[in-house]
Amino acid sequence: MNDWDVVLRGGRVIDPESGLDEVRDVAVRGSTVEEIGSGLPQGRAELDVAGLVVTAGFVDMHSHSSDIAGLRLQALDGVTTALELEAGVTPVAAAYRNAAAEGRPVNYGFAASWALARMEAVAGITLDGRLGTFLANIGSAAWQRPAAPAEVTALLARLAADLADGALGIGVLVGYAPGAGPDEYLRVAGLAAEAGAPTFTHARDLIEMVPRAVIDGAEEIVRAAGQTGAHMHYCHVNSTSQRHIGRVLGLVGRAQAAGARVTTEAYPYGSGMTGIGAAFLAPERLAERGLTPSSLTYARTGERVASAARLRELRQADPGGLAIVELLDEDDPADRELLMRSLTFPGAVVASDAMPLTWTGPAPDPLTWPLPATAITHPRTAGTFSRALRLLTRDGGQLSLAEALGKCSLAPARLLADRVPAMARKGRLQPGSDADIVVLDPATVTDRASYADSTRPSAGIRHVLVNGSFMVRDGDIVAGALPGRPVRAA
Ligand SMILES: [Zn+2]
Repeated sequence: MNDWDVVLRGGRVIDPESGLDEVRDVAVRGSTVEEIGSGLPQGRAELDVAGLVVTAGFVDMHSHSSDIAGLRLQALDGVTTALELEAGVTPVAAAYRNAAAEGRPVNYGFAASWALARMEAVAGITLDGRLGTFLANIGSAAWQRPAAPAEVTALLARLAADLADGALGIGVLVGYAPGAGPDEYLRVAGLAAEAGAPTFTHARDLIEMVPRAVIDGAEEIVRAAGQTGAHMHYCHVNSTSQRHIGRVLGLVGRAQAAGARVTTEAYPYGSGMTGIGAAFLAPERLAERGLTPSSLTYARTGERVASAARLRELRQADPGGLAIVELLDEDDPADRELLMRSLTFPGAVVASDAMPLTWTGPAPDPLTWPLPATAITHPRTAGTFSRALRLLTRDGGQLSLAEALGKCSLAPARLLADRVPAMARKGRLQPGSDADIVVLDPATVTDRASYADSTRPSAGIRHVLVNGSFMVRDGDIVAGALPGRPVRAA
């Protein structure tokens, strides 16, 4: 008998860093993995995991899930750390306070938000450390216009203050503010480079979509890395690139070969989801992306948007209301191939772009479980990681299980390690690692959420521990468990 809190007995332990892939016991004390070995003595609690894979929990670099319900769906998909990096939330100190006060099923962390800092500096909007403020104002032209020099200075000061407060980097939703100038973008990258912090960009329109654009969205990211030396992370290459994924990845690959720090991520779905009031969803702009109003499904009512007039009405009434946007056709083999290219691109990490849940009725108590049928989201919230594992290792994919798991855990942890020392203990399953652990069945792990049934949890994820506490046990949520802790920069 040892003083370990729990021993996971006899599972196939895969550590993507060391290459360990053997049947072993894993002993956890407190929030730390203490020992991995064969025939370990008993701990206070024992769990037989024979026949299952035991590996590091997944680190999601792109989660807008700011509610307990959405994060529970992510935990059921193997996620143990969900970071809001692309949009970011400003002020970050308030975002961390809010999360700590409400409790979180998984570990959480935030980048500073260029969009919110811009809303404050350019449009005088009051910030509260919540993403909802961004969504509520997403469609307002006031924050999308070119900024005067003093306004750029003010927003850079806000971002610098967030970085000093432990923000994990700077999220740059430049694609949502067409009036923001390329010089402003370079100054944000320059600030990040000075602070040794990464940036996370939702790219501007590509030149193929808007031939008269001030700069191509992909070129802008790559150029900023080259000119400022900043680490530029290119968010969801699959969705902002649409059928130009090959061109964008070629550009990124050349920049990487030339020594620029550009990294990428993808999620394995053909549709996106965002606030219906986004600038690029204006009826007169849909054709740029080959879309029509009926490419959009408004989540709150489930309606396919019938006409440009109805789209205008919805954008006016509920600009932050979320809509599914069909970008690639998941039934078309050529489009599926593009999604696989974005996932298998060397170094690309799996990241979900998980969304806050939309309620078609009154929002229930935050701890209500199972979720009522009034919860709607994009299936990527519940299914990204299981779906990626299935596609990469079984249904057509050529990756080994360890390689695919590495894209979900080790690769994102490494990507963030320079700025976030805590990442050295995540994304690995080794003595001394944080006890963020997922136990899964590699033969059956799969997404089950669909566009029609968007909150259906993944299958094959048997147990999930976050900081040594069970968040998921025997495939279901542990009632009341909120073991998530903050992840901050040093
Ligand atoms: Zn985005």
